[in-house]
Amino acid sequence: MRISVLGSGPGGYVAAIKAAQLGAQVTVIEKTEVGGTCLNWGCIPTKALVASAEMAGKASKFESYGIELRGEAVPDFSRIISRKNRIVNTQIKGIKSLFSSRGIVLKEGHGMLTSPREISVTLRDGQRERIDADSVIIATGSKPLQIPYLPFDGQRILSSDHALMLTEIPKSLIVVGAGVIGCEFACIFSALGADVTIVEMLPRALSTEDTEISKILEREFRKKKITLLTNIKAEKVDVKEDGIHISFADGRKISAEKVLVSAGRLFNSEDIGLEEAGVSKGPCGEIAVNERMETNVPSVYAVGDVVGGLLLAHVASAEGITAVKNIMGGNERIDYASVPNAIFTSPEVASVGLREYQAEEKGIKVRTGHMEFRALAKSHTTGEIEGLVKVVADAQSDRILGVHIIGPHASDLIHEAALAVRMGLRTRDIADTIHAHPTLSEVLMEAAADVHKEAIHVIRK
Ligand code: FAD
Repeated sequence: MRISVLGSGPGGYVAAIKAAQLGAQVTVIEKTEVGGTCLNWGCIPTKALVASAEMAGKASKFESYGIELRGEAVPDFSRIISRKNRIVNTQIKGIKSLFSSRGIVLKEGHGMLTSPREISVTLRDGQRERIDADSVIIATGSKPLQIPYLPFDGQRILSSDHALMLTEIPKSLIVVGAGVIGCEFACIFSALGADVTIVEMLPRALSTEDTEISKILEREFRKKKITLLTNIKAEKVDVKEDGIHISFADGRKISAEKVLVSAGRLFNSEDIGLEEAGVSKGPCGEIAVNERMETNVPSVYAVGDVVGGLLLAHVASAEGITAVKNIMGGNERIDYASVPNAIFTSPEVASVGLREYQAEEKGIKVRTGHMEFRALAKSHTTGEIEGLVKVVADAQSDRILGVHIIGPHASDLIHEAALAVRMGLRTRDIADTIHAHPTLSEVLMEAAADVHKEAIHVIRK
């Protein structure tokens, strides 16, 4: 079986490795750098910056841990960026080694389908090559969405890609959009010393998360002096020598050195030969696929951001593996209901399954349990006491429908909950499982017990 993979982000590169594991002959076509958005412009570089920002935040608290800092801790952005670049380059080398160890051929150039089983590649040196395959997996990803009144210029008006290429920390920054990317960058630049304002058209930050989680995050923003303006839409934008000035319909005006626009993503479904291959798109330009990741054309599959839905690296990889298994004769489907979501704000946010409002919209009667991190001894030892866990359970069956966390290591803690949602576990299954002490994981055990008002570390009034 010959499989060609167009794009080498977490969708494409994981699909390629899985295909090689299952015995296929694999060619990957990549026009920029292996690892895609995730490794070069997304998950990994931002998390390297998050780590530097956290370090800067910790430095200001050294004394409270009994450590005297002699001299000031000053972030040096060029070194922060060099560190980020080193991490990214190590991971790029890692993917290339994985490819060569499995005999995967990497063609570096722009690929376009010329038919359902053929890709034409314009290589970096300008030469053209045609690659035949029995099946093609399209994994071309997405790119930052531009808003007409704030066109990216890379100087004053930045996309998330531009923000990762800055050489200095801006003194002030307006972030347009309080979604995942906007909130993560707001926390990074605020911790590094920028004066940050977030503007959001919707009523709250992280509007797809549970409302209680958004409220706590907004409280934490206030503590960090990040200004959040909600229910607000820009009317006029002036880019001047001294910075960028935004006026809003209600008469308010704000100014900053730079603006970061994080208003969504655009699917990379243009200029890849979908028309030539007869592949259909959905209403927003995403490639239309079924649960098996098949497009309307039998030999063509599509995975990752370019098919829309949950724009997450681990979803792209899971879809890539599903596509490959189906190409190789399987009958796999993705279970989107138990996909964990991790947001690397400060504190972190993570969730799986239904939010309380979603369960109510579905007409399900729910019971909820809460537990604050400050109730855990472990949180006090590490000095990370902000946040809570909320468990949403079916009131009748006790089945866990969703878990929502804001707090330290939320991105790691969520996986016990993801397994519980996937396996259809009840709150008592988690509450009755002995959790090691002292650990942050105890918070989920206690939140599950709280659904039945049986949590130990709660003062009942
Ligand atoms: P991509 O990673 O976008 O890869 C597509 C690849 O295809 C690219 O390398 C591109 O160059 C290549 N390509 C496109 N067209 C062609 C062509 N014609 N020929 C050859 N090659 C082509 N997700 C998480 O799960 N966790 C996070 O913490 C997280 N943080 C993020 C932070 C930011 C700032 C951003 C922007 C995104 C973040 N994401 C995160 C989302 C994540 O990066 C994406 O969901 C993921 O990269 C999608 O993978 P993909 O393989 O579908 O596409």
